[in-house]
Amino acid sequence: MTLSKDAILAELNTVTMDGSGREGGLVDAGAVAKCSSCDGHVSVVLALPGLDQRVRAAIAGRAEAAVRRAAQRAGQPLAAVVVDTTAEGASPRRATVSLPQASPSKASGPAAKTAQQAAPLLPNVRHIVAVGAGKGGVGKSTVAANLAVGLALRGHAVGLLDGDIYGPSLPTMLGLHSLEPNVIGNMLQPFLVHGVKAMTIGKLVDAERPLIWRGPMAHGAFKQLIEQTEWGPLDYLVVDLPPGTGDVCLSLAQLLRLTGAVVVCTPQRVAQDDAVRALRMFQQLSVEILGVVENMSYFVGDDGKEYDIFGRGGAQMMAQRTGVPFLGSIPITMDLRRNSDEGNPSANFRGGTALARSLDAVVQNLEAQVALASVRSAQASPTLTIN
Ligand code: ADP
Repeated sequence: MTLSKDAILAELNTVTMDGSGREGGLVDAGAVAKCSSCDGHVSVVLALPGLDQRVRAAIAGRAEAAVRRAAQRAGQPLAAVVVDTTAEGASPRRATVSLPQASPSKASGPAAKTAQQAAPLLPNVRHIVAVGAGKGGVGKSTVAANLAVGLALRGHAVGLLDGDIYGPSLPTMLGLHSLEPNVIGNMLQPFLVHGVKAMTIGKLVDAERPLIWRGPMAHGAFKQLIEQTEWGPLDYLVVDLPPGTGDVCLSLAQLLRLTGAVVVCTPQRVAQDDAVRALRMFQQLSVEILGVVENMSYFVGDDGKEYDIFGRGGAQMMAQRTGVPFLGSIPITMDLRRNSDEGNPSANFRGGTALARSLDAVVQNLEAQVALASVRSAQASPTLTIN
């Protein structure tokens, strides 16, 4: 059972801006920009423009207490409450946090740490999620595209950057073929498809020309895609990285402060070995691992039987072994392959299929991990409590 959004909103409406109880509540005042509740993870975004930091922090504290009351009344457990008061042009973020017992999946490398800490935040983008893989062909771009579409379907403002500058797949996977790039001033306008703002180098170069970049060129191309795209305000920017542990991953860590990385892996032992290398690279760069996705986990035949072609559960075990979260498994299906080739990822989420359910679960688990990672990296909301 999940604590209902209505129960949370009702309780939030007992909270007033000045705490006097005389004014209308937060909902009536139009201050609740977003509210979501999933498996004990509650996230509330308050729009409190024009109020100073101390007042916003006080309101956030009362809102958090209201969420707890709602949970207590409904007899529902709470895993995490995030109250964010930075919507609508409020001033920079500050975090008051109490951390969960579990140790964060972060690591080391003083030089790398400096690079990530020194990396700028992208203005107006709340969370940047990199999607990487140890090797090509494991479904990294497929997962990146479907994460972006799934997050958009859950009401978030989402951008998707095809950072796989050596082999961009997103023009095909998102169905961008008939669309022309649009530049206003010197800014690229992202393509608006499947509820997502997307940008890919694949639409800026000849589709059949081999893309050969030396290190500094790769850095420059990637930087331009990030900085010269008019993203506008986003809740999530999903970045599809090239496979492996090369230059672009380093550029990303220097150019942007990431919320974290998702590593895509198929179940086989050899795929796990490569994925662990990618995990360790992110950790050396001090990028938090948001989780592992096991793609091509199993195949469902026409007879309805599930076949463990590659050894289902291998990537999940690898996640356990390396102490990072597991976000879920995605089966091999003809629908997913066909919808990717036809540029129609939205179709993957329809019809209540095993595929739709698995993708939904991965997206929801990612949302929860992002909320936790935001707390740990102190990039997030002014008030946050984790039970
Ligand atoms: P990568 O980015 O790791 O190189 P892609 O995402 O380009 O891999 O996927 C490679 C191919 O496998 C694509 O044709 C894609 O549609 C297909 N594919 C990926 N995952 C699945 C899946 N779970 N079921 C069916 N086809 C898949």
